[in-house]
Amino acid sequence: RPDRHLLVQVIPYGRHQHLLVARDVTQIERLETMRRDFVANVSHELRTPLTVLVGFLETLRDAPAGALSAEQRTRFMDLMREQTQRMQSIVADLLTLSTLESSRASERPNPAGMGAIIETVRQQASALSGGQHTIRWHLAPALDVLGTASELSSAVSNLVTNAIRYTPAGGTITVEWQPTDEGGAMLSVSDTGIGIEPQHLPRLTERFYRVDRSRSRASGGTGLGLAITKHVVIRHDAELKIASDAGRGSTFSIVFPRERVVQTPMLEAVSPE
Ligand code: ADP
Repeated sequence: RPDRHLLVQVIPYGRHQHLLVARDVTQIERLETMRRDFVANVSHELRTPLTVLVGFLETLRDAPAGALSAEQRTRFMDLMREQTQRMQSIVADLLTLSTLESSRASERPNPAGMGAIIETVRQQASALSGGQHTIRWHLAPALDVLGTASELSSAVSNLVTNAIRYTPAGGTITVEWQPTDEGGAMLSVSDTGIGIEPQHLPRLTERFYRVDRSRSRASGGTGLGLAITKHVVIRHDAELKIASDAGRGSTFSIVFPRERVVQTPMLEAVSPE
């Protein structure tokens, strides 16, 4: 088949015979290409803030005494801090990804406490939106997921953060946490934001893939959020569904199967008897 790569070796065997060994190296080559692309991407992502940083540092160092006002200095420092924070976010996300890839998912997971996770994200969301969006929450409080709280927390946080980032002021974000007909549960985050053209959808969870690089950067995105989310989803035997209408909005859903979902009855007051 034309899409497979074979490595063929001819080994002398006896006096007049040869052994032909063919190995299918398609997968090995694909992994190698992915690894090379990834290293190139990381270097590129870090180089941009570093270039800006060095530029400002040199300007500050070389400016003749009195050439820069105190305000100008502060502005330069702020811009330098911004670039440094940007690199910190990239490195933090890369570490999260590598931890997810190198550790095994827990075999006997406990209830992760979705109620508390969603509550924390809710506070983050209102701080990030700064009151510029309407954010609606429809939550079934008695549902929990068997899994790892820190991982689920980053997945939920990434989806809600993206919904806010990619929705202009005045838009609406709806977060739902509800049982599914199949006995599982679904977390869905819908927005009335910029949406995504269909040709981008299959690639969104690739590391550093962004529809609009400058918009993602400007809003503090690292391009790794959905890659992390996808990993977390797979580790919880769940499915990530993305539906979007360019110019109208998107819905990102995590569907957990029945085996991963538990009912957590509300604590009842203990009767005095
Ligand atoms: P980023 O840090 O750039 O947001 P992500 O991995 O979280 O990286 O998302 C990848 C890309 O998917 C984003 O750059 C953006 O183009 C697109 N995207 C993600 N969520 C949304 C959304 N809710 N609405 C529109 N586009 C989105």
